Amino acid sequence: MKKGDNGIEREVDKLGRVVLPINFRKRLGIERNSRVLISMDEETVLIKAYESLCAMCKKPGELNSDLGLCPSCIEKVKNYNV
Ligand SMILES: [Zn+2]
Repeated sequence: MKKGDNGIEREVDKLGRVVLPINFRKRLGIERNSRVLISMDEETVLIKAYESLCAMCKKPGELNSDLGLCPSCIEKVKNYNV
């Protein structure tokens, strides 16, 4: 896909929010409440699907939101006797 081939005009609301087109979200697997990585260059803002990584094993997946750990690492920590 060439740069600029898929431009869709959207309004920025008073809080600076823009709704991402549904087809963009579906294509990148950006679901409700998922995280994105926002970056910019001279005149372009880039929004990338952000995959959370476990703080211990660095594998992507479903993480405990408080600890930032995957279920497997949570079990390891639970079974670790000091
Ligand atoms: Zn882990």
